Amino acid sequence: MGTSIIIAIDGYSSSGKSSMARQLAAEIGYRYIDSGAMYRAVTLYAMRHNMINSDGSVVTELLIPALPSIHIDFSVNGDGTQSTMLNGENVEREIRSLDVSGHVSQVAAVPAVRHALVAMQKDMGTGKGIVMDGRDIGTTVFPEAEMKVFVTASPEERARRRLAELQAKGVEATYEEILENVTQRDHIDRTRAESPLRQADDAVLLDNTTMTLEQQNQFLLNLYNKITRK
Ligand code: C5P
Repeated sequence: MGTSIIIAIDGYSSSGKSSMARQLAAEIGYRYIDSGAMYRAVTLYAMRHNMINSDGSVVTELLIPALPSIHIDFSVNGDGTQSTMLNGENVEREIRSLDVSGHVSQVAAVPAVRHALVAMQKDMGTGKGIVMDGRDIGTTVFPEAEMKVFVTASPEERARRRLAELQAKGVEATYEEILENVTQRDHIDRTRAESPLRQADDAVLLDNTTMTLEQQNQFLLNLYNKITRK
């Protein structure tokens, strides 16, 4: 076995990044971090404390001073899955709701929120041996990551996958509202001033529109083996 590396997996909403990243981490014995869950947890906190206006804009005068009192971490469950903890409370289910999805990109566009979370994420990577997925991992959090993948798929395919995922969890939603949410988040994520979503120059592009999960996992594993065997 070679030395541990940092693996950054970025891409569009519902492109299957998290499933792939989680699977890869389990296979190679790395720690997996879902950075989107951290933005979702901050969003849930902001929603609960009335820090979001009815037009969806964020009350930054309230949220920014509250950032030091928002503690996020991950607990590992018996079956190996992880749960996102917000100030000690398991919020894993709640942060996946369409309500949180509808506000998260605006919260994630607030520079102070990004600075706070990026600092936490950098800390998590000091020992390497980590797979992190998100939007700016290869560009901002770990620009030095040895392996970078940028994942994309058509918006329609991403909406179909997300619908299936929510339905499996018993969450009610329509294809139309999910497609709308996915396209809207893509737009906010790509056009925000602070570390927008973009493919790092040295990232490998993976369009998985017509790939099975199995094929994607094999793709990542091959890339990892190639990089670490050098
Ligand atoms: O990955 P997920 O879809 O759960 O992320 C939710 C939202 O959090 C994204 O739409 C994006 O606005 C934000 N995000 C981000 N930077 C990251 C991860 C997520 O801005 N590294």
